[in-house]
Amino acid sequence: MPDVAVVGSGPNGLAAAAVMARAGLSVEVFEAAQSIGGGTRTSELMQPGHFHDVCSAVHPMALASPFFRAFELPRRIDLITPEVSFGSPLDGGRAALAYTSLDRTAAGLGRDGPAYRRLMEPLVRNIDDVMDFTQNQLLRIPRNPLVALAYGLRTLEQGTSMWNVRFREQYAPALLSGVAAHAVSHLPSLAASGAGLMLGALGHAAGWPIPRRGSATIAAALADDIRAHGGTIHTGTPIDRLEQLPATRATLLDVAPRGLVDMAGDSLPGHYRRALEAFRYGNGSCKVDFILSGPVPWQAPELADAGTVHVGGTRAELARSENEVSAGRHPEQPYVLVAQPSRFDPSRAPGARHTLWTYCHVPAGSTKDMTKEITAQLERFAPGFSDLVVESHAITAAQLSQYNRNYIGGDFSAGIMDVRGLVQKPVASPVPWRTPLLGVYLCSSSTPPGPGVTGMPGLHAATYALKDIFKLPVPGLGIG
Ligand SMILES: Cc1cc2nc3c(=O)[nH]c(=O)nc-3n(C[C@H](O)[C@H](O)[C@H](O)COP(=O)(O)OP(=O)(O)OC[C@H]3O[C@@H](n4cnc5c(N)ncnc54)[C@H](O)[C@@H]3O)c2cc1C
Repeated sequence: MPDVAVVGSGPNGLAAAAVMARAGLSVEVFEAAQSIGGGTRTSELMQPGHFHDVCSAVHPMALASPFFRAFELPRRIDLITPEVSFGSPLDGGRAALAYTSLDRTAAGLGRDGPAYRRLMEPLVRNIDDVMDFTQNQLLRIPRNPLVALAYGLRTLEQGTSMWNVRFREQYAPALLSGVAAHAVSHLPSLAASGAGLMLGALGHAAGWPIPRRGSATIAAALADDIRAHGGTIHTGTPIDRLEQLPATRATLLDVAPRGLVDMAGDSLPGHYRRALEAFRYGNGSCKVDFILSGPVPWQAPELADAGTVHVGGTRAELARSENEVSAGRHPEQPYVLVAQPSRFDPSRAPGARHTLWTYCHVPAGSTKDMTKEITAQLERFAPGFSDLVVESHAITAAQLSQYNRNYIGGDFSAGIMDVRGLVQKPVASPVPWRTPLLGVYLCSSSTPPGPGVTGMPGLHAATYALKDIFKLPVPGLGIG
């Protein structure tokens, strides 16, 4: 009989399992899908030899999250860090570029360079304190209150109608909104600007790396560590009721709140169950992968050096597109997230071919295939793009929710990204990973600090399970 059961093998379930196994406990992981990884799977979606990240592709948190730092992920897998973390094309062959170097970035932003530097520099310089503030439970005193204040004031400026107050040109605003729009939220909004400033600062502090051979290498590194410490992972094993699990002292659930309600049924106290049932999910995404016969022919050639490109035009255009989605409509000209892994990692496609990873936001539950709209946006900033398309593969928001039970309505953040949603994760509590059921913890991205491949919800849940049930400290996680 194991000490610990973990349901779900996304990065957070695996992180939680690794921590528990390293503490000397016997651990079993149960995964519904045939392969491990959740949002970190890499697959030959279309043709042999062409490897596509099905969900996550770019990993600022692989370098910056306190969990992955302790786990020494960069020593276990090969992370390639492009010189340009992210970029935004503008009409007329122009582009705004965020280099890993803040100096170089500011130098390329015309008259707004100094203003961009003043906005980002305190966050970049104090990135560890920004991580402390954003990667732990929000309801507590931050390690460095002055940095938290600087971050908060900037979030306020960039998350409200003041967002253009320091800028005179289009480049810096497009760059900032391109990152903020990751949040699948109204623009401008506090949640989007907070997420955008944190991710933007990481682009200048450590960069936005792409794993050689794909995101699945992150899941594999975690799984190897779990097995090396005696853990077992069962795939193709959906857990529909908690009673299906072996009787363990602790159970960690890498599931959305709805999953916990389904699994626990009437054993949850009424108030907690009602809170989980009222938990709000966000809008969805439509993912489109491409096989190309050559690299994307960006009109602004510098974009070839960017790992990630935020396609959609000016700040005003990005806001229009995202606000259409917030209002429940499909934008005609969507904001498109683009990653070009094969530009940096030749193992992704054979010969001169390339793989291209894209997605755009759509209303929750959408069944619309956005290939046409995404292709048109790419064609707008990279004329001739369509001629290079060998094959494409779309996953609608509705299909994403079937691919992974946590992505309800295609919401891969597993919870809406607004201020209320950030505090109620899934309930407002100093220890939201604990559930009222003795020994049962939530460890998915529906708990703080939220979405992204960070391992942090898993680390937090495991920390409390070790303390509450086993009276054990968090073990060392490094290679040693
Ligand atoms: C298209 C897309 C692009 C993304 N891009 C990025 C990116 O570039 N960078 C980034 O950092 N993040 C990105 N993300 C987000 C990231 O993938 C998620 O935030 C992250 O994977 C969440 O991790 P998790 O462990 O909480 O859950 P998941 O990764 O969703 O894993 C949950 C796992 O639990 C399993 N499960 C659920 N219920 C049960 C059950 N009852 N029984 C058994 N198994 C169960 C699921 O099958 C799944 O494998 C992206 C996501 C998507 C979909």
